[in-house]
Order: sequence, then structure tokens, then C-alpha cells
Amino acid sequence: MITELFNPWIRDLVPYSSARSEYSGSASVFLDANESWDGGNGGINRYPDPFMRKLRSEMERVMKIPFSMSAIGNGSDEIIDMLIRMFCAPGHDSVMIERPTYGTYSVFAHTSNVSVVDVPLTPSLELDKEAMFRAIGEENPKIVFICSPNNPTGRVYPIETILEIAEFNKGITVVDEAYADFARNFESAIPFIMENPRIIVMRTFSKAYGKAGARLGILVSHPEIQRVFMKAKPPYNVSLCSQQEGLDALLHADAVRKRVEETISRRTEFSAFLSSLSYVETVFPSEANFILIRVPDVASLYDYLLSNGIVVRNRSNDPLLENTIRITIGSESEMNALKEALNAWNG
Ligand SMILES: *Cc1c(COP(=O)(O)O)cnc(C)c1O
Repeated sequence: MITELFNPWIRDLVPYSSARSEYSGSASVFLDANESWDGGNGGINRYPDPFMRKLRSEMERVMKIPFSMSAIGNGSDEIIDMLIRMFCAPGHDSVMIERPTYGTYSVFAHTSNVSVVDVPLTPSLELDKEAMFRAIGEENPKIVFICSPNNPTGRVYPIETILEIAEFNKGITVVDEAYADFARNFESAIPFIMENPRIIVMRTFSKAYGKAGARLGILVSHPEIQRVFMKAKPPYNVSLCSQQEGLDALLHADAVRKRVEETISRRTEFSAFLSSLSYVETVFPSEANFILIRVPDVASLYDYLLSNGIVVRNRSNDPLLENTIRITIGSESEMNALKEALNAWNG
């Protein structure tokens, strides 16, 4: 049944057969890929494994993501782009998003000439299930993107709601769980993929794992979708250096956990601090590594912080988020510098 959801030209694609994907068995002399016979340390003269097998086995061991269900993109960005190209016909199909949310879903839809159906969140920034059902019924989007915890609100949506939407939606439902590690009592959609293979989950090495510079996005899907993703992606989309950075993060999973714990307790503490400031109108509860606040005059607070060398994100142009600023939870010294500046502000 998922077979019918793919664009037919993707489903029937004959993949590029790379030198490294053709042979099986063990070999020690590699004269198949026109690489240089020497290039310095670490085997960087060789093309990387197109299937990222070592990294994906470690992901299975550490993250408990089954090997046959995982794939890696050059950041989640590449995965979003690929999924749109796999499932949506340019000039014909649409995707659905719930605003406010992460900006790249609609950008990649537009680069593929795929239209975007927008459903606003409720005023309390929850999923508007009825409105989503209506829009799905009317527009038949090929992909519904749901970001939980949501960026920039920090809100986790109930898994029951996400599953109901994914059940009702006869297209693909992509659940972006980039911030999952920072959420307490989080229920992932991953265990429900085998029951409903139209669910795809995205994770990333960019946030909790601390490897944003390596560009490592994670696709978790039914093996049938994973197989099509593997054949449709650029063969060497994740560099050798990046695959090694991913392995490094998993090797130091304890340090990652410790940093996440530290981030969460800093978030709690910073949230209380923000609530104590007279000029902060709202501190939105967050399950991610950032906090969204509402203040009366965003522009002047933003400029003031910038004049102190501190960059935050103005989210005021998002629907429902007038006069809001999104602040990432940084290191202890970064947070101290920020708190000092906020204390001295008398806006
Ligand atoms: C940061 C973020 C990502 C991660 O993107 P990468 O391309 O993997 O760095 C994915 N989704 C959301 C909602 C994000 O905020």
C-alpha cells in the first residue's frame, strides 16, 4: 500500500550503482573507484560508505533505532527535501504544515513547486485537530509535517493526537522529533511505524548530540520507504568526516546524556528567572533546548541584546507569535552573560 504513495518515477528508479555498493565479500585492494591511492590520514582518499552501515549499526545499539528502518541525510534538511521529491508531484501535489513551525518544510516544498497547505495552531499553540482533519479531507496533502516538540514554541503534542491524524491521513505523516531528547516523559512515534507505515520520524545529530556542523539528519521509517530513500538519495550524501563525527557522538553517549540533563536543569532555572522579570509578559513552557518569551517591545530588546553581543531569534513575524523572542539554552557562562544583560534592561 505504501508503494502507491511514491512518485512512480522514484519507485521505478534504477539507482546509481556506485563502485562501493557493487561488490560483496571482503577485499583489500580497491581499484574500482578511481580514487587517489593516497590522501593523508584516516582513509579520506576513499569514498565513504553510501549506506553508512557502521554508523547505523551503532545507532541501533545506542539509540535503539532498527538498522533496516534507518537512513541518514546531509542534515534533516536533505531528508525533508528528499521526502518531498519522493512523494510529491511538482506542480500538482501539496504538503500540510501547522503554523507556527519550523520554516524549512515550506521552503523545500516551494523549491519543488509543491504547494503548502497551512493550518494555524490553536491560540494555546496546540494542534487544531478538527481544522487539520478538514484540511486533509479537502486538500489531500501527500505529506503532513508535524514537529513535536515544536520549533519555535517548545510544545510537545499528545502522541494520541499525532497517531489519530496519521491514521486519518492517507498520505505520509512526517513527525519531526529533532528536540525529543530534551522532552520529559516524551512518547516517540517510532514504535508505531510498523503498525502504520505511513508514519515517518525524523531525528538529528544537530541538537542533543552536539554535531550540527557535521550535518547528520536521521530518517526512521518502514523498511520499504527506507529502501527507496537509499536508492533515491545522492550516493555519497554523508561525508566520511561526518560519519565519523556521528560515531564519536554515539561513543560518548554518556556525555551526551549528561549535557542534555544539564541543559534541562538550566532551562528550568532560566525559565524561573525569566518569569521574575517584570517586563516579560509570557514565558512559554518548553520541552526543547530553547525558550520562547513575549515582551512588549521586541525590537528594542533585540537591539539592546545585540549591542551587548548577544544574538537571539525574533519570532514576531510568525502567526500567533507577535512580540516573541526565542532564546537557545547555552553554556553556563553564556547564560550568565544573558541574565546580566536582561537584569540591566529596563524596557
Ligand atoms: C534544528 C532542527 C532540525 C535539525 O535540522 P538539521 O538539518 O538536522 O540540522 C530539524 N527539525 C527542526 C524542527 C529543527 O528545529
